[in-house]
Amino acid sequence: MLKRTATTDSPLAIRGRLPTKTRKIAKPKRDGPAPASDKYENLEQLAARIRVCPACPLCQSRTNAVPGEGKPNAKVMIIGEAPGANEDKTGRPFAGNAGRYLDHVLEGTGLERTDFFITNIVKCRPPSNRTPKNDEVETCTSLYLFKQIELLQPRLIVLLGSLAVKKILGLKSVEEARGRIVSHDGRDYLATYHPAVRFYREDLAAKIKVDFGLLKKEIAQRIVSRAKPNQALPTG
Ligand code: URA
Repeated sequence: MLKRTATTDSPLAIRGRLPTKTRKIAKPKRDGPAPASDKYENLEQLAARIRVCPACPLCQSRTNAVPGEGKPNAKVMIIGEAPGANEDKTGRPFAGNAGRYLDHVLEGTGLERTDFFITNIVKCRPPSNRTPKNDEVETCTSLYLFKQIELLQPRLIVLLGSLAVKKILGLKSVEEARGRIVSHDGRDYLATYHPAVRFYREDLAAKIKVDFGLLKKEIAQRIVSRAKPNQALPTG
C-alpha cells in the first residue's frame, strides 16, 4: 500500500503542481504604513507605559490612567481634554455624560464609536477636573499623544474643546478653528466645542451638531468612499 506523506496528501502534489524544492518567499516590503497588527502592538506598548507613567504630579491622584481606545487602523482620531471621574474610575475615555453625548453626535456620522480612536490631551484626571496645567500638557503630549498620532497616521483628527485647539493648532479658541477643515503641519483637523459644554451652554449644542454634520460629510467623502471595494474602471 502506498504510504501517504504530507506531500502526497496534498491534492496539488497529486496533480504534480507542488514544486519539489522549497521556494523562498519574498518578504513583503515595509515602506508603506505599518500593518494594523504592528500598530496594535505599538499602541498597546504605549498604553502599557501610560498606565504606569510617573512623569507628572497627576500620577499621584489618579486611580487609572486613560490611554485611549479604538481601532489601530482608525482613519479618524478624536482628542478631548482630560479624563474626568468616570474615566479615572474605568480607565476608558469619554465614559460619562460627555461620552454619552459624544456617542449621540457620532451616531449621525455613519461610523460607529469603535471605528474611531479616542483619546485626550492628558491621560490622567486632574484633581477636581481642573484644567490641565501647561507642564502637564507638555509632558503628556510629548511623551504620548504625538506618538499615538504618529502610529495611527489618521486622515482626520477631531479636536474637542479649547485646550486641544490651543495645544495642537496654536489657535486662541474653538470659534477661530471650527466650521472648516484646518490643515496644520501636514495633517487635517476638524475642531469643535467639547461635548461637556452642551450641559451648560445650550446655544453651543446647535454648533456642535453643525460641526458633526461636517464630520459626517468629510467621512463620506474622504474615508468611506476610499474604503469601498475596487470599483469597476470605465472601459475603452
Ligand atoms: N472629557 C474629556 O475631555 N475626556 C474624557 O475622556 C472625558 C471627558
